[in-house]
Amino acid sequence: MKKAASLFLALSFLALNLTALDLKEAEKYKNSTFEKLIQDIQSRLDNPSLPEPELSKEAQDDHLKSDPRNYLRVSARDKKERTKLLELGMDIVEVRKDAVLGFAHYKDVQKISEKDFLILEKKTFYDWVMSALKDFPAADAAYHNYAETQETLKALAAANSDIASFFSIGKTIEGRDIWCLRINSSSKVARKSSKPGAVFVGTHHAREHLSNEVPLLFAAYLMDHRKDAEIKKYIETLDIYIIPLFNPDGAEYDVATGKYRWQRKNMRVNADKSIGVDLNRNYDATWCESGSSHSSYSDTYCGTGPFSEPESQAMKKFVEARKNLKTLQSYHSYASLIMYPWGGLYDPVPDEKDRAAFIKMAGKMGELTGYEAIQSSDLYAASGDTCDWAYAQAKIFAFTTELEGSSFYPGAGIIKNTVEKNIKAAVYLLSMTADPYKQ
Ligand SMILES: [Zn+2]
Repeated sequence: MKKAASLFLALSFLALNLTALDLKEAEKYKNSTFEKLIQDIQSRLDNPSLPEPELSKEAQDDHLKSDPRNYLRVSARDKKERTKLLELGMDIVEVRKDAVLGFAHYKDVQKISEKDFLILEKKTFYDWVMSALKDFPAADAAYHNYAETQETLKALAAANSDIASFFSIGKTIEGRDIWCLRINSSSKVARKSSKPGAVFVGTHHAREHLSNEVPLLFAAYLMDHRKDAEIKKYIETLDIYIIPLFNPDGAEYDVATGKYRWQRKNMRVNADKSIGVDLNRNYDATWCESGSSHSSYSDTYCGTGPFSEPESQAMKKFVEARKNLKTLQSYHSYASLIMYPWGGLYDPVPDEKDRAAFIKMAGKMGELTGYEAIQSSDLYAASGDTCDWAYAQAKIFAFTTELEGSSFYPGAGIIKNTVEKNIKAAVYLLSMTADPYKQ
């Protein structure tokens, strides 16, 4: 056997070991139902236990100390100032009335102060993490990691094999599969369907773990309620795709050491050895024009070109192969918002009928969740996101939901309530998928 081939095999085995649960663990997911998943989350909350971290305490500390980012609070009063900060590489994690909070690489901190922004507070990443979150909370193990998400989806497909199937839409840069559960009473895996299609995707951004739980538990909910008249009708008349963990490399990296790493991007090793491209800035819709950075070390880095990343390429191929798709929901956290295009432009979408449909659907989902419905760029402009591209490219009514919470790591106690209200909004979106213009 050639060296390269044996190395490849060895790496594949390693990858398998890293991603698969052992048989006993996988067995646990066999009869996944919504109620069981919620009970499991509760029992893990009540009996927190953590797997052995990959790194020793000292190595964790060293890793955090070597993070080149600073935590910042910067004066910013409107969407234009916030957009400018994103372009300067700031990773805005929270918007307040007169200021934004977030991270920036130390080189970007320099640029931000040179542009006359007032930096109200600045800490090293290490000091920030130490003050914000002392330890990886053991109860957060209740969140589903990559292997658990994979097993849950697989188990749901197996238990409902007449209407559900499980397939990969493509591989990440580190070679993980991006898993999709498809629900369709007459078509399976990647076979085409002429029924109107709906897509639910989570976790473009690695540290937004709550955005994996919502679509994952929604999948279980649909399977549990498959005999209910309303859900049954959607299963029979629609083509439903659920992709909870779009950036598994980043999500695994975020939790691998026993301390959260506040990872946002994917795990691309850039030319300058910095890590990651912002997958929600990498789509071909006014790519890298506003609210994103050309600097590879920035957290809002848009990549070397539109669709430079295997993850966004996988979504491109997925959408382009399915002309039947009508609605899309992309989950993020945390701002309690339901957002519609454009994100990359301050202008509203030009088609009045479409605009009215967007506003109506976002408004209704806002009522059902208690979140505020806005045009995406009202928060700040951000080019190259999933939803602008899906609408511009394929006329898909695409929404970004910013889930709730007071942090990217709001604890597992928030999961149940967040999931329940967002399921109502997701079911409503299904009700609109056949005819988004419906009154
Ligand atoms: Zn996000």
